[in-house]
Amino acid sequence: MVNDSSGARRRAASVVRPAIRELSAYQAPPAGDGIKLDAMENPYELPPALKSGWLEVMREAALNRYPDPSGAQLKERLRRVFDLPAGSSILLGNGSDEIIQMIQLALGGPVLAPVPTFVMYEMTARFVNLEFAGVPLDREFALDADAMLAAVERHQPAVVFIAYPNNPTGNLFDEDAIRRVIGAAPGLVVIDEAYHAFAGRTLMPYVEAYPNVLIMRTLSKLGLAGLRLGFAAADPAWIDELEKVRMPYNINVLTQASAVFALDHIDVFNEQAARIRAERGRVAAGLAAKGYRCFPSDANFILFRCREKDAGDVFRTLLDDGVVIKNLDGAHPALAGCLRVTIGTPDENDRFLEALPGS
Ligand code: PMP
Repeated sequence: MVNDSSGARRRAASVVRPAIRELSAYQAPPAGDGIKLDAMENPYELPPALKSGWLEVMREAALNRYPDPSGAQLKERLRRVFDLPAGSSILLGNGSDEIIQMIQLALGGPVLAPVPTFVMYEMTARFVNLEFAGVPLDREFALDADAMLAAVERHQPAVVFIAYPNNPTGNLFDEDAIRRVIGAAPGLVVIDEAYHAFAGRTLMPYVEAYPNVLIMRTLSKLGLAGLRLGFAAADPAWIDELEKVRMPYNINVLTQASAVFALDHIDVFNEQAARIRAERGRVAAGLAAKGYRCFPSDANFILFRCREKDAGDVFRTLLDDGVVIKNLDGAHPALAGCLRVTIGTPDENDRFLEALPGS
């Protein structure tokens, strides 16, 4: 560095917004040679025959050209494969993370969500300088409809985020409770179905049944986390506004071509998701056999609570054995003593259960 970096630090401190200065940048630990069960990824790669077909598609990709700014071909495939409501429009995002950001940029705040939930709803609110109100889930991590309605009344949120299933708790909220929130909310209600492939349930018909519902999905958990593709379906009146804050070429050429190819082979991904679902019950039984309290999951991960052991000790024991999971102790008061494990291949799950100490 030519300049003394303490000078740069002083300068940055004088202009970077305080709300940003007090944050830490997102950190994801590399698993190295270990087993990565911390990020809700699908553990299976493309089968070899499919990989060859995909490489052929990549060979044709025009890297010298900007991508199709509207992603028309990709949207057509998404509509067909996921049976999106005929009257809806589609918004594409560089992961659903980016869609969360676009929604908050366009709508402003307050932003409301039950907590604990996916942290990016609150983080993004801080990035864009919006008020965030978190409404505690009940002791079993169910949606507390009365508390949600009271918070809607008090805060009059521009947007409510509901993850269905919820991360990190893994459960699907009661539909009646969600409908009450939709009925009371003055603005948009985003139903985030990131874990749809493992849930067997969807609220997609709500897009046509209610004027204020947007459904968000992602290809990440289905086996394509590396592509970074999320999408949202909602009435065109909502999507037209959100389109105004979308960066023109947010979905790159390789992602568009890869996603179209993958969607033409959706059966392969659905079959992988079915394998993951089948393993979920076995991992839950293994956790229970070691004395942990397991919370019911409709996703590709399981939240579990230590009875006596310190969650940090359990996390480190696993890490020493090359198994990376997520320690949620301290992330929210309701998550005291909790850890979250992503469902891997049968071998990976065996390794995890073998390395796991008693609770
Ligand atoms: N929504 C939920 C509920 C999530 O848990 C995650 C990822 N952990 C996302 C959205 C973001 O997914 P992506 O940006 O990969 O589409």
